[in-house]
Amino acid sequence: MLERVLMTVLILASLGAFALRARDLVGYLQLGKDDDRLPQHWGQKIKEQLVVVFGQRKLLQWTIPGVMHFFIFWGFVILFTTIVEAFGAVYQEGFHIPLIGQWGPLGALQDFFVVAVLAGIAVALAIRKIQRPGRFRGSHLKEADYILYAITGIMLTILLTRAAEISLGHFPYDTEWTPVSASFAALFDDLSVATRDALDTIFLWWHSLIILGFLVYITYSKHLHIITAGVNVLFTSERPKGALKPMYIDIESMSEDDTFGAAKLTDLTWKQLLDGMTCTECGRCQSQCPAWNTGKPLSPKLLIMDIRDAMFEHGPVLLEAKRKGEDAFKEAVENLPDLNPTVVEDEVIWDCTSCGACVQACPVNIEHIDTIMDMRRNLVMGESRFPKEMQSALQSMETTGNPWGQPPQARIEWMKGTSKQEPLEIPHISEAPDAEVLFWVGCAGAYDDRNKKVVYDFAKLMQIAGVKFATLGPDENCNGDPARRMGAEYIYQMLAEQNIELLKENKVKKIVTICPHCFNTMFNEYPQFGGTFEVIHHTEYLAQLVKEGRLNPAGAMDKKVTYHDPCYLSRHNDVWEGAREVIEAIPGTEYGELHRHGHNTFCCGAGGARMWMEENMGKRVNNDRTDEALASASDTLAVGCPFCNIMLSDGVNERKAEDKMQVRDVAQLLLQSIEFAPSDEPSSNGNGSNGHDSNGNGQDYPATEEQEEISGSAKGPGDPGTT
Ligand code: SF4
Ligand code: SF4
Repeated sequence: MLERVLMTVLILASLGAFALRARDLVGYLQLGKDDDRLPQHWGQKIKEQLVVVFGQRKLLQWTIPGVMHFFIFWGFVILFTTIVEAFGAVYQEGFHIPLIGQWGPLGALQDFFVVAVLAGIAVALAIRKIQRPGRFRGSHLKEADYILYAITGIMLTILLTRAAEISLGHFPYDTEWTPVSASFAALFDDLSVATRDALDTIFLWWHSLIILGFLVYITYSKHLHIITAGVNVLFTSERPKGALKPMYIDIESMSEDDTFGAAKLTDLTWKQLLDGMTCTECGRCQSQCPAWNTGKPLSPKLLIMDIRDAMFEHGPVLLEAKRKGEDAFKEAVENLPDLNPTVVEDEVIWDCTSCGACVQACPVNIEHIDTIMDMRRNLVMGESRFPKEMQSALQSMETTGNPWGQPPQARIEWMKGTSKQEPLEIPHISEAPDAEVLFWVGCAGAYDDRNKKVVYDFAKLMQIAGVKFATLGPDENCNGDPARRMGAEYIYQMLAEQNIELLKENKVKKIVTICPHCFNTMFNEYPQFGGTFEVIHHTEYLAQLVKEGRLNPAGAMDKKVTYHDPCYLSRHNDVWEGAREVIEAIPGTEYGELHRHGHNTFCCGAGGARMWMEENMGKRVNNDRTDEALASASDTLAVGCPFCNIMLSDGVNERKAEDKMQVRDVAQLLLQSIEFAPSDEPSSNGNGSNGHDSNGNGQDYPATEEQEEISGSAKGPGDPGTT
């Protein structure tokens, strides 16, 4: 009787402590700003729960730690039944769960998962103590150890309790189903019944006390994710992956209490605070981050942990103030330290290339980029504090509509071609009502000399294929991506609204662009401002033209080609096949993947508006990627993004490896193959050969005239700091 009373008191105390802590944690979340995250697509949400939470898909991308976590996770689910049995046994000898509690397969599953969890713990300890991967740098390692020891204790006491019960004849399952527990029961064979009974009680209490302590401890530890992960996944953004959190700025209706982005902890949304509570400190994000991997201070893991630590530090004071009333709360918020640089250093915020590797790697769907961009928004719009080299690009976007600071009329200079090329006649969209597609050139394509040649070649390919297309000529503006990723949302909003109006005025339905940033912004972000268009990247478009037979790459090239996937295409938009299809359609090319490719590509260093910022710390990101390409067996690095083109060409130049590797846009390779097609091969749909002769024996062809002129990117006013 005393035993039951004592256990009841302990259970109530533990549940009480858990409930009080849970109340505070919910209170901390309520300190955050509102964020309308009510699921809109339940089918998708259910799928995510099944795949990400129960299927552990993101964890399983890393096989050994993934399988280890899979067993521990499912061990917790299945072995919850043993916890119920243990507490039940305190109150009733021979207790079993109604309906399923004597079902052999359940007993077998329990036995299996005890062993699987113990094996998982052994692997986890080996990873942490022997392998010691860098991703754990900065994580609370001791805390993780305590949890692993506690889980080990829970598993061992399950086994011992089951063994004691078998030896006493209280076990609810047929032991044929539970060979592991049955073999442990043999340990008790020589003991008296009284001793077995005493041991059963000791193991049962030992087990129950660990469980009750664990229940409270997890709410104060990083293992809070056991409770919050499913919720965090449920409220994952339903925006397209490449779209930033919208922010509608209407200066006239703003009050002085309104803030731009996140200045204080309370400017973050409840979801961003929940991200902090959910972080498992696994460091997968950190291990994939180009900034961290090249020696910058930014670690997406540490950023999230710092915010969480600040929430736990200031949360109690804020909650107390909230209880006292509005004025007290306002004062407490004013007294909060600024997020930047007190909680997170400014440098950390500017290091991000917005590549999305962290978000993709995170097993619990934490959204680092939104938080980083909210802090950038505050620094730029609230405090005017940002890297000084950004200034000219920002001003240029505001005044000339492009970060290069070039006049609008210069947007069409690429159509003239080089001195040895024929000028291209391309109509303005307003004069081409029958255009199949609008060619959105983009600022890099229009103003950067290296990319002007890509744009020219792509336009030439469309002409060869007989595509009816037009451009916006000098009326095109920057799509706004650099302004938005810099945190200057008001400039982005201005550019986006102008462009959407222009596109609608000209009744544009389908857009093709060579720039993944233009592609992402127009496809994923313009709908936030009422502009919905069909947008296709030029690599996909070219693949389609080749498939339809409108382009015929018949000239063999004898090149070993690899392809660098742009983050804004492959990771943010799942687009990667077109480029490969085009390259593989070119005769004589031998294609090989870079180690990091597709979803797992590595940033070139220009994304997140890093193109317009200096990179003074650590190894340059573009050099890291270039080194990877140079270490491959390829002699040609194909690209599908004007910014990657600039960054990786610069990397090759910096490594003085121009003889070893050429950087070429996919369109340039395709045109080269078509131009050097054997004369009896039609180069296009009905256009016939272009007149170039080819030896047709698969040997490499000389670079085209325009490619010979590509020796570096000419720079103009507003040049990116990174080139
Ligand atoms: S988006 Fe890329 S650069 Fe930014 S924190 Fe994540 S992994 Fe690092
Ligand atoms: S943010 Fe995600 S990936 Fe990074 S440490 Fe936390 S749980 Fe792991």
